[in-house]
Amino acid sequence: MTRVGVFGGTFDPCHFGHLHAAQVCLEQRLIDQVWFVPAVDPWQKQNQQITSYATRVRMLQSLIASKSSLRVSEVEKDLGKSETFATLSTLGAQWPRYEFVPIIGADLLDGLHTWRDYEKLISKYRFLVVSRPGQERMLPVDVSGIVVTSVGVDISSSDIRTRTRHGESISQLVPHDVAQLIEKELLYRN
Ligand code: ATP
Ligand code: MG
Repeated sequence: MTRVGVFGGTFDPCHFGHLHAAQVCLEQRLIDQVWFVPAVDPWQKQNQQITSYATRVRMLQSLIASKSSLRVSEVEKDLGKSETFATLSTLGAQWPRYEFVPIIGADLLDGLHTWRDYEKLISKYRFLVVSRPGQERMLPVDVSGIVVTSVGVDISSSDIRTRTRHGESISQLVPHDVAQLIEKELLYRN
């Protein structure tokens, strides 16, 4: 069975840290593909202006370029909500031959219990938890899966937005096409 890592997030913007996390999971043969799932309704980020869904999808498409084991899934566009359990269930119904495995960064572990359908989520799925610099975590006892360790890439979307607002370079943090799109669309300026 093909194992697909489902990597959800706001991706505002996506960056090399996201790409690294996906590639580490692939390299360690934990999964066969990674599908990036941009959140249509990033409810955890209510106090922040979010870039349009379409633009975040375009940035993700630039990030994954033509790498064959990576793709962008717009599954949440039709769902109209960002609830990981619902997203995984929908993917499972649409692609019955694939096994879907949620991927999250270690920083999300602390708040996992606040996610909708948490009990169903952790009883049905095994998580791939990617370590993040400064975010060393163990798997909580009730969550099954593994913590995927790597050298880690210390990049965050928040930092990219701040740098952009201050006119600082982000060329080492995102692919050229993403940087160009941010510049052309004047994202993160205010
Ligand atoms: P923000 O700073 O706005 O929260 P972010 O960089 O954390 O942005 P998100 O869109 O919030 O990016 O995260 C999507 C997913 O990617 C989450 O599971 C997050 O933990 C993970 N992630 C983000 N950056 C990294 C990184 N550098 N290494 C590993 N995982 C990451
Ligand atoms: Mg984040």
